[in-house]
Amino acid sequence: MKPLNPHFSPPADAQDRKSISPVICYSPETLPNPNLGVLQALRTQAEKTGELIVAPRDAGCCDVPAGTFFRISSIEGAQVGDMNLWSKSDLTERFYSGKTRALHGTHVSTGDRLWSTFPNMRPMATITADTLDWYGFDEFGGSVHDVIGTRCDPYTHHLLQHDDYHYCCHSNLTRALAKHCDLSLDEAERHVHDVLNVFMCTGFTRDTGQYFMKASPVRPGDYLEFYAEIDLIMGLSACPGGDCSQEHSSDAAACYPLLVEVFDPGEEARAAHRISAPSGYDRSHGTK
Ligand SMILES: [Zn+2]
Repeated sequence: MKPLNPHFSPPADAQDRKSISPVICYSPETLPNPNLGVLQALRTQAEKTGELIVAPRDAGCCDVPAGTFFRISSIEGAQVGDMNLWSKSDLTERFYSGKTRALHGTHVSTGDRLWSTFPNMRPMATITADTLDWYGFDEFGGSVHDVIGTRCDPYTHHLLQHDDYHYCCHSNLTRALAKHCDLSLDEAERHVHDVLNVFMCTGFTRDTGQYFMKASPVRPGDYLEFYAEIDLIMGLSACPGGDCSQEHSSDAAACYPLLVEVFDPGEEARAAHRISAPSGYDRSHGTK
């Protein structure tokens, strides 16, 4: 946090330096077009082929084939979900929340893509529908579905509270991935990564830049829907924070299940899907 009383005096031209207008780091116009209209038309012919109910303070994983859609829904009460994505064929290719944030902003919605880690760096999923897109940004600078938080975890909790809590999203995702891929807890934990905070309402305070959360505006019936760009394993934790209005990393909040559904547009449509190639960078890193 920036000191309220700086240790160093501002230079004579401080105001001139601070008043320079910002520029957007990565222009969204230069990103490949996700052809949203085509995907949304494809969605109208898709039929439900599977579902997963994620219990409160727990997580689940499911396979989502490339060229199908998956939807995360609120079903019984306001609840946020922490989502991980892995390539089905290589768990080390996983969702890269930091780069997704740099490319699409702090909070994602329809038309944005979830990008994978280096060296592949390709779209893993495209958001095709978001019933909370009306929320935009509120008067506090908060919004929904962030890629700025990490995931609640027992290590930070131990650091700050000096005790152990075992149902943080990090632990829930670790147990779920271990079970889904028949891995040891130690192996699985190494693949759990920073999440997309589905339905969570967050931001940074305008005066101090501190990460904040507030009660999620999600209500039963709301959903966030994705198109799988590659063969995925999707992991979702129903956060112990519930709607994240008060606290997380405890059993204090009211928590509800989340519903995950997979929709298949048909074999022909899946066969026509083109999986993005890994990044074309030659990986010589200046040695040639
Ligand atoms: Zn959590």
